Amino acid sequence: MIGGVDIGGTKIAVGVVDPSGCVLARDECATDAQRGFEHAMRQVTTLLHQCAERAKVKLDGIGIGCAGPLDSATGTLGNVNNLPGWKGGNPVDFVSREFGVATALENDADAAALGELRWGTGRPKMRFLYVTVGTGIGASVILNGKVYRGVDGCHPEIGHHIIDPSGPPCTCGVRGCWESLAAGPAMTEWLRKHSPATCANGNLSAREICARAQDSEEWAQRAVEREAYYLGLGLANLITLFAPEAIVLGGSVMKSAHLFLDRMREVMRQNCRLVPADRVEITLASLGADAGLIGAAQVWHDRFERHGGEVGHEYASDHRGPVSS
Ligand SMILES: [Zn+2]
Repeated sequence: MIGGVDIGGTKIAVGVVDPSGCVLARDECATDAQRGFEHAMRQVTTLLHQCAERAKVKLDGIGIGCAGPLDSATGTLGNVNNLPGWKGGNPVDFVSREFGVATALENDADAAALGELRWGTGRPKMRFLYVTVGTGIGASVILNGKVYRGVDGCHPEIGHHIIDPSGPPCTCGVRGCWESLAAGPAMTEWLRKHSPATCANGNLSAREICARAQDSEEWAQRAVEREAYYLGLGLANLITLFAPEAIVLGGSVMKSAHLFLDRMREVMRQNCRLVPADRVEITLASLGADAGLIGAAQVWHDRFERHGGEVGHEYASDHRGPVSS
Protein backbone atom coordinates (compact mmCIF):
# COMPACT_ATOMS: atom_id res chain seq x y z
CA MET A 1 0.00 0.00 0.00
CA ILE A 2 1.60 3.18 -1.21
CA GLY A 3 0.84 6.75 -0.25
CA GLY A 4 0.66 9.08 -3.24
CA VAL A 5 1.23 12.84 -2.99
CA ASP A 6 0.63 15.12 -5.96
CA ILE A 7 1.89 18.67 -5.32
CA GLY A 8 0.74 21.41 -7.68
CA GLY A 9 0.74 25.19 -7.48
CA THR A 10 -2.97 25.36 -6.58
CA LYS A 11 -3.72 22.17 -4.72
CA ILE A 12 -2.11 19.11 -3.18
CA ALA A 13 -3.82 15.73 -3.52
CA VAL A 14 -2.90 12.81 -1.26
CA GLY A 15 -4.19 9.26 -1.22
CA VAL A 16 -3.59 5.57 -0.68
CA VAL A 17 -3.04 3.48 -3.80
CA ASP A 18 -3.24 -0.32 -3.75
CA PRO A 19 -0.97 -2.68 -5.74
CA SER A 20 -3.42 -2.74 -8.67
CA GLY A 21 -3.38 1.03 -9.09
CA CYS A 22 -6.74 1.66 -7.36
CA VAL A 23 -7.12 4.67 -5.10
CA LEU A 24 -8.52 3.44 -1.75
CA ALA A 25 -8.80 6.82 -0.06
CA ARG A 26 -8.03 10.35 -1.14
CA ASP A 27 -8.14 13.91 0.08
CA GLU A 28 -6.82 17.27 -0.97
CA CYS A 29 -6.00 20.71 0.33
CA ALA A 30 -5.05 24.10 -1.07
CA THR A 31 -1.29 24.42 -1.59
CA ASP A 32 -1.18 27.90 -0.03
CA ALA A 33 2.37 28.17 -1.35
CA GLN A 34 2.95 31.56 0.29
CA ARG A 35 2.48 30.03 3.77
CA GLY A 36 5.65 28.09 3.13
CA PHE A 37 6.99 24.61 2.52
CA GLU A 38 6.76 23.33 6.12
CA HIS A 39 3.13 24.37 6.47
CA ALA A 40 2.22 22.48 3.30
CA MET A 41 4.18 19.40 4.38
CA ARG A 42 2.39 19.34 7.75
CA GLN A 43 -0.92 19.33 5.86
CA VAL A 44 0.33 16.51 3.64
CA THR A 45 1.31 14.30 6.57
CA THR A 46 -1.96 14.96 8.43
CA LEU A 47 -4.07 14.09 5.39
CA LEU A 48 -1.95 11.06 4.58
CA HIS A 49 -2.39 9.70 8.13
CA GLN A 50 -6.17 10.24 7.82
CA CYS A 51 -6.32 8.52 4.42
CA ALA A 52 -4.37 5.50 5.71
CA GLU A 53 -6.73 5.31 8.67
CA ARG A 54 -9.84 5.47 6.46
CA ALA A 55 -8.43 2.79 4.14
CA LYS A 56 -7.43 0.75 7.24
CA VAL A 57 -3.91 0.16 5.93
CA LYS A 58 -0.33 0.79 6.95
CA LEU A 59 1.73 2.54 4.29
CA ASP A 60 4.66 0.57 2.86
CA GLY A 61 6.11 3.52 1.00
CA ILE A 62 5.32 6.96 -0.36
CA GLY A 63 5.68 8.40 -3.86
CA ILE A 64 5.53 12.11 -4.61
CA GLY A 65 4.99 13.99 -7.86
CA CYS A 66 5.72 17.71 -7.83
CA ALA A 67 6.07 20.55 -10.28
CA GLY A 68 9.75 21.00 -11.21
CA PRO A 69 12.54 21.81 -11.39
CA LEU A 70 13.64 19.39 -8.71
CA ASP A 71 16.40 16.86 -8.02
CA SER A 72 14.73 13.46 -8.02
CA ALA A 73 17.87 11.72 -6.70
CA THR A 74 18.15 13.84 -3.54
CA GLY A 75 14.47 14.83 -3.24
CA THR A 76 15.26 18.55 -3.17
CA LEU A 77 13.07 21.17 -4.82
CA GLY A 78 14.59 23.76 -7.14
CA ASN A 79 13.22 27.17 -8.01
CA VAL A 80 9.66 26.07 -8.84
CA ASN A 81 7.69 28.82 -10.56
CA ASN A 82 4.41 28.42 -8.72
CA LEU A 83 5.92 27.39 -5.37
CA PRO A 84 7.80 30.58 -4.48
CA GLY A 85 10.08 30.30 -1.46
CA TRP A 86 10.12 26.49 -1.46
CA LYS A 87 13.55 26.19 -3.06
CA GLY A 88 15.75 23.79 -1.09
CA GLY A 89 12.76 22.14 0.63
CA ASN A 90 12.93 18.36 0.68
CA PRO A 91 9.52 16.62 0.74
CA VAL A 92 11.21 13.20 0.72
CA ASP A 93 13.07 13.89 3.99
CA PHE A 94 10.00 15.43 5.60
CA VAL A 95 7.54 12.66 4.73
CA SER A 96 9.88 9.70 5.22
CA ARG A 97 10.86 11.00 8.70
CA GLU A 98 7.18 11.20 9.65
CA PHE A 99 6.15 7.76 8.34
CA GLY A 100 9.44 5.85 8.53
CA VAL A 101 9.09 4.41 5.02
CA ALA A 102 11.08 4.70 1.78
CA THR A 103 9.93 7.74 -0.21
CA ALA A 104 10.65 8.87 -3.78
CA LEU A 105 10.07 12.14 -5.63
CA GLU A 106 9.73 12.84 -9.34
CA ASN A 107 8.75 15.71 -11.57
CA ASP A 108 4.94 15.53 -11.92
CA ALA A 109 5.03 14.93 -15.69
CA ASP A 110 7.39 11.97 -15.15
CA ALA A 111 5.11 10.68 -12.38
CA ALA A 112 2.04 10.86 -14.63
CA ALA A 113 3.97 9.15 -17.44
CA LEU A 114 4.98 6.31 -15.08
CA GLY A 115 1.32 5.93 -14.06
CA GLU A 116 0.23 5.71 -17.70
CA LEU A 117 3.09 3.31 -18.47
CA ARG A 118 2.01 0.92 -15.71
CA TRP A 119 -1.77 1.32 -15.60
CA GLY A 120 -2.98 3.44 -18.51
CA THR A 121 -2.75 4.20 -22.22
CA GLY A 122 1.04 3.88 -22.33
CA ARG A 123 0.99 0.31 -20.99
CA PRO A 124 2.14 -1.65 -24.03
CA LYS A 125 4.61 1.05 -25.12
CA MET A 126 8.36 1.12 -24.48
CA ARG A 127 9.01 4.47 -26.22
CA PHE A 128 6.47 7.18 -25.66
CA LEU A 129 6.14 10.79 -24.67
CA TYR A 130 3.66 12.05 -22.13
CA VAL A 131 2.65 15.66 -22.65
CA THR A 132 0.47 17.52 -20.17
CA VAL A 133 -1.12 20.80 -21.23
CA GLY A 134 -2.65 22.96 -18.51
CA THR A 135 -1.34 26.09 -16.78
CA GLY A 136 1.99 25.12 -18.32
CA ILE A 137 3.23 22.40 -20.65
CA GLY A 138 5.13 19.52 -19.09
CA ALA A 139 6.45 16.46 -20.82
CA SER A 140 8.12 13.19 -19.97
CA VAL A 141 10.20 10.98 -22.23
CA ILE A 142 9.90 7.23 -21.63
CA LEU A 143 12.64 5.28 -23.39
CA ASN A 144 12.83 1.50 -23.11
CA GLY A 145 10.25 1.65 -20.35
CA LYS A 146 12.26 4.08 -18.21
CA VAL A 147 12.12 7.81 -17.59
CA TYR A 148 14.80 9.51 -19.67
CA ARG A 149 17.05 11.82 -17.65
CA GLY A 150 19.56 14.37 -18.80
CA VAL A 151 22.87 15.48 -17.36
CA ASP A 152 23.00 15.29 -13.54
CA GLY A 153 19.71 13.38 -13.67
CA CYS A 154 17.78 16.47 -14.76
CA HIS A 155 14.34 16.43 -16.34
CA PRO A 156 14.34 17.88 -19.88
CA GLU A 157 12.05 20.94 -20.13
CA ILE A 158 10.25 20.18 -23.37
CA GLY A 159 7.52 22.76 -22.69
CA HIS A 160 10.23 25.40 -23.05
CA HIS A 161 11.56 24.47 -26.47
CA ILE A 162 11.36 27.62 -28.55
CA ILE A 163 8.85 27.70 -31.37
CA ASP A 164 8.86 31.41 -32.22
CA PRO A 165 11.69 33.63 -30.92
CA SER A 166 9.51 36.67 -31.62
CA GLY A 167 6.64 35.13 -29.63
CA PRO A 168 5.26 36.17 -26.23
CA PRO A 169 7.51 36.30 -23.14
CA CYS A 170 7.54 33.04 -21.17
CA THR A 171 7.63 32.54 -17.39
CA CYS A 172 11.12 31.06 -17.84
CA GLY A 173 12.49 34.38 -19.09
CA VAL A 174 12.82 33.81 -22.83
CA ARG A 175 10.37 34.37 -25.69
CA GLY A 176 8.22 32.08 -27.74
CA CYS A 177 8.53 28.81 -25.79
CA TRP A 178 5.92 26.18 -26.64
CA GLU A 179 4.35 26.83 -23.21
CA SER A 180 4.03 30.57 -23.84
CA LEU A 181 2.16 29.84 -27.09
CA ALA A 182 0.07 26.79 -26.27
CA ALA A 183 -0.55 26.37 -22.52
CA GLY A 184 -4.02 27.34 -21.20
CA PRO A 185 -3.08 30.94 -20.21
CA ALA A 186 -1.81 31.54 -23.78
CA MET A 187 -5.37 31.06 -25.04
CA THR A 188 -6.67 33.53 -22.46
CA GLU A 189 -4.02 36.09 -23.30
CA TRP A 190 -4.42 35.81 -27.07
CA LEU A 191 -8.19 36.19 -26.90
CA ARG A 192 -7.94 39.15 -24.51
CA LYS A 193 -5.57 40.91 -26.90
CA HIS A 194 -7.24 40.14 -30.21
CA SER A 195 -11.00 39.82 -29.87
CA PRO A 196 -13.10 42.99 -30.16
CA ALA A 197 -14.21 44.49 -26.83
CA THR A 198 -17.84 43.83 -27.80
CA CYS A 199 -17.26 40.07 -27.47
CA ALA A 200 -16.64 40.38 -23.70
CA ASN A 201 -13.84 37.83 -23.96
CA GLY A 202 -11.77 39.73 -21.40
CA ASN A 203 -10.38 37.12 -19.05
CA LEU A 204 -11.86 33.77 -19.93
CA SER A 205 -10.13 30.59 -18.80
CA ALA A 206 -9.09 28.03 -21.39
CA ARG A 207 -12.04 25.90 -20.28
CA GLU A 208 -14.48 28.76 -20.81
CA ILE A 209 -12.98 29.55 -24.22
CA CYS A 210 -13.42 25.91 -25.27
CA ALA A 211 -17.04 25.97 -24.09
CA ARG A 212 -17.71 29.11 -26.16
CA ALA A 213 -16.01 27.59 -29.20
CA GLN A 214 -18.27 24.59 -28.78
CA ASP A 215 -21.19 27.04 -28.94
CA SER A 216 -19.78 28.37 -32.25
CA GLU A 217 -18.63 31.73 -30.85
CA GLU A 218 -16.37 33.05 -33.62
CA TRP A 219 -13.46 34.50 -31.62
CA ALA A 220 -13.36 31.55 -29.24
CA GLN A 221 -13.17 29.29 -32.30
CA ARG A 222 -10.24 31.33 -33.60
CA ALA A 223 -8.48 30.92 -30.23
CA VAL A 224 -9.08 27.15 -30.41
CA GLU A 225 -7.78 27.01 -33.99
CA ARG A 226 -4.62 28.87 -32.94
CA GLU A 227 -4.20 26.59 -29.90
CA ALA A 228 -4.52 23.50 -32.12
CA TYR A 229 -1.94 24.96 -34.53
CA TYR A 230 0.69 25.56 -31.83
CA LEU A 231 -0.01 22.26 -30.09
CA GLY A 232 0.40 20.53 -33.45
CA LEU A 233 3.61 22.38 -34.21
CA GLY A 234 5.20 21.44 -30.87
CA LEU A 235 4.09 17.83 -31.23
CA ALA A 236 5.47 17.76 -34.79
CA ASN A 237 8.85 18.84 -33.37
CA LEU A 238 8.70 16.03 -30.79
CA ILE A 239 7.83 13.47 -33.47
CA THR A 240 10.74 14.63 -35.65
CA LEU A 241 13.12 14.50 -32.68
CA PHE A 242 12.00 11.25 -31.04
CA ALA A 243 9.81 9.34 -33.54
CA PRO A 244 8.09 7.65 -30.56
CA GLU A 245 5.56 4.84 -30.72
CA ALA A 246 2.98 7.08 -29.09
CA ILE A 247 2.36 10.47 -27.56
CA VAL A 248 -0.05 10.43 -24.62
CA LEU A 249 -1.81 13.74 -23.97
CA GLY A 250 -3.07 14.79 -20.54
CA GLY A 251 -3.75 17.94 -18.52
CA SER A 252 -6.77 20.22 -18.14
CA VAL A 253 -6.67 21.71 -21.67
CA MET A 254 -6.78 18.20 -23.12
CA LYS A 255 -10.20 17.67 -21.55
CA SER A 256 -11.34 19.56 -24.68
CA ALA A 257 -9.07 17.55 -26.97
CA HIS A 258 -11.94 16.83 -29.39
CA LEU A 259 -11.80 20.51 -30.39
CA PHE A 260 -8.08 20.34 -31.27
CA LEU A 261 -7.30 16.86 -32.53
CA ASP A 262 -8.13 17.13 -36.25
CA ARG A 263 -6.23 20.39 -36.77
CA MET A 264 -3.34 19.15 -34.61
CA ARG A 265 -3.02 16.01 -36.72
CA GLU A 266 -3.08 18.08 -39.92
CA VAL A 267 -0.27 20.35 -38.64
CA MET A 268 1.75 17.30 -37.56
CA ARG A 269 1.38 15.70 -40.97
CA GLN A 270 2.39 18.91 -42.76
CA ASN A 271 5.50 19.37 -40.64
CA CYS A 272 6.92 15.86 -40.22
CA ARG A 273 8.43 14.83 -43.54
CA LEU A 274 11.26 12.46 -42.67
CA VAL A 275 9.87 10.17 -39.99
CA PRO A 276 6.82 7.87 -40.19
CA ALA A 277 4.59 10.38 -38.37
CA ASP A 278 1.41 8.49 -39.30
CA ARG A 279 2.68 5.55 -37.27
CA VAL A 280 2.89 7.63 -34.09
CA GLU A 281 -0.23 7.02 -32.03
CA ILE A 282 -1.72 10.14 -30.51
CA THR A 283 -3.79 9.05 -27.52
CA LEU A 284 -5.40 10.68 -24.51
CA ALA A 285 -4.31 9.92 -20.96
CA SER A 286 -6.63 7.36 -19.43
CA LEU A 287 -6.19 7.57 -15.66
CA GLY A 288 -8.64 10.44 -15.21
CA ALA A 289 -8.95 12.67 -12.17
CA ASP A 290 -6.65 10.51 -9.99
CA ALA A 291 -3.83 10.35 -12.56
CA GLY A 292 -1.57 12.48 -10.35
CA LEU A 293 -2.02 10.23 -7.32
CA ILE A 294 -1.69 6.98 -9.22
CA GLY A 295 1.41 8.36 -10.97
CA ALA A 296 2.90 9.46 -7.64
CA ALA A 297 2.41 5.97 -6.19
CA GLN A 298 3.99 4.51 -9.31
CA VAL A 299 7.08 6.68 -8.67
CA TRP A 300 7.66 4.58 -5.56
CA HIS A 301 7.18 1.27 -7.42
CA ASP A 302 9.47 2.41 -10.22
CA ARG A 303 12.22 3.50 -7.85
CA PHE A 304 12.17 0.73 -5.27
CA GLU A 305 10.77 -2.32 -7.05
CA ARG A 306 12.40 -2.09 -10.47
CA HIS A 307 15.74 -3.28 -9.15
CA GLY A 308 14.50 -6.17 -7.07
CA GLY A 309 14.32 -4.21 -3.85
CA GLU A 310 17.87 -2.93 -3.93
CA VAL A 311 16.73 0.41 -2.67
CA GLY A 312 18.18 3.39 -4.42
CA HIS A 313 21.48 1.77 -5.29
CA GLU A 314 21.12 0.93 -8.94
CA TYR A 315 19.00 4.01 -9.43
CA ALA A 316 21.84 6.16 -8.21
CA SER A 317 24.47 4.55 -10.41
CA ASP A 318 22.06 4.56 -13.35
CA HIS A 319 21.38 8.20 -13.27
CA ARG A 320 24.19 9.94 -11.48
CA GLY A 321 27.32 8.06 -12.44
CA PRO A 322 29.48 8.63 -15.48
CA VAL A 323 28.46 6.97 -18.74
CA SER A 324 30.54 3.91 -19.55
CA SER A 325 30.15 1.47 -22.42
ZN1 LIG B 1 9.77 29.10 -21.38
